[in-house]
Amino acid sequence: GVVTRFAPSPTGFLHIGGARTALFNWLYAKHTGGKMLLRIEDTDRARSTDAAVEAIKDGLSWLGLDWDGDVVSQFERADRHREVAEQLVAEGKAYYCYATPEELTQMREEQRAAKKPPRYDGRWRDRDPNEAPEGVKPSIRIKAPQTGETLVADAVQGDVRFPNADLDDLVILRSDGTPTYMLAVVVDDHDMGVTDIIRGDDHLTNSARQQIIYDALGWPVPKMAHIPLIHGPDGAKLSKRHGALGAEAYREMGFLPEALRNYLARLGWSHGDDEIMSTEDMISWFEVGDINKGAARFDIQKLEALNGHYIREADDMYLVSSIEKLLPYLEGGAELSERLFGQHKERLTAAMPGLKSRAKTLVQLIENTYYIHAERPLNFDEKAASILDSDARKLLTDAHEALEKVEDWSVESLDQAVRAFADRKELKLGRVAQPIRAALTGRATSPGVFDVLFVLGKQEALARISDQAS
Ligand code: GLU
Repeated sequence: GVVTRFAPSPTGFLHIGGARTALFNWLYAKHTGGKMLLRIEDTDRARSTDAAVEAIKDGLSWLGLDWDGDVVSQFERADRHREVAEQLVAEGKAYYCYATPEELTQMREEQRAAKKPPRYDGRWRDRDPNEAPEGVKPSIRIKAPQTGETLVADAVQGDVRFPNADLDDLVILRSDGTPTYMLAVVVDDHDMGVTDIIRGDDHLTNSARQQIIYDALGWPVPKMAHIPLIHGPDGAKLSKRHGALGAEAYREMGFLPEALRNYLARLGWSHGDDEIMSTEDMISWFEVGDINKGAARFDIQKLEALNGHYIREADDMYLVSSIEKLLPYLEGGAELSERLFGQHKERLTAAMPGLKSRAKTLVQLIENTYYIHAERPLNFDEKAASILDSDARKLLTDAHEALEKVEDWSVESLDQAVRAFADRKELKLGRVAQPIRAALTGRATSPGVFDVLFVLGKQEALARISDQAS
């Protein structure tokens, strides 16, 4: 069966490009009934941190992208990489190179002076190892083909040809005995049984070099798919300014994982004009051959619009629990969580239909819960304060009287009662609703005023109106 893998370097969070790569590997594995493995490419000891490994795993889990089997650490496999390098030497497919760093520097300088590209000149390729200088620890270099071309048959980019004259004998094991990245990737993918490699197209030229290693080892080359990088809406390479942030930043901005997943899936892949795709749809439709060749553009406003859709369509209780999970990550969130979930969970649940129809992110939705957890006397924003002028306060006295008489405190009865009150006053509904809304919520905009009255309950609603009435 198909085995894909996600192979991040743990030098930071799971950034948005990495999340998309993981998603494509995951979708393809699910689509084919195969597996997706997770390998942490932690050979760069100075830059790899445990915290980054955790952040990557956490980001994947949040996005619902699970992996099969144990997480593989590339660093821990160094012995195996060394063994393969030695095996290649024994088979005459690789050789010890005793060139000193000074020699190599000099070689590069001469090449630069001659305006030639820097390339190892193969000086130890055919030399007798008995000529090895004393005290120099050798590196191991692969014997790369010197004529012809290396063909990478890429599922996205098509056939990409690299003249072998441009590829030198690359180091596979450094003189300190550590494997190079090229060797480690090939050995790990082979040993892990990877059949399909889906990764960013910044790795395309690496593929040619890796292919040379596969060939030397006589191993089959996995199918390759190099996906175009993500650009910002202005066409420039994605940067922080465009939203090149970690997955956890999107969680903290209040995106639902399924919305982000849907959005990421469409960054470089599409299925007709379908914008909204369930995970099941994506799994059944995903084909590597349908990945676009051109760069994808990341547009946070489109992501927000999609997220708004997912919020509107979401189950109320799911949103309640999503908010509960999100709050601890937000500033002041722990305190707010206590109030919302300690005292007002019922109100929150009742308010959800009104709240979810007007928020693009969970953070906006949380901001709109102010009226639910506010304590009397409320804080009023500027607009609400200006609505509550002396006429409005007088009107609230009469509205209070009218609402007190409402026995059945339901949205329907409240709707009728407020309309009847507006008719008696010969005022448009809005003229009556505005001050009531301001008194109840401290804001000039909120979910529907009948909803708000209902959610707060008779006692609290009347108390808030009374606070502002004169
Ligand atoms: N560790 C590499 C990266 O994070 C990925 C290498 C690969 O997928 O082959 O860019």
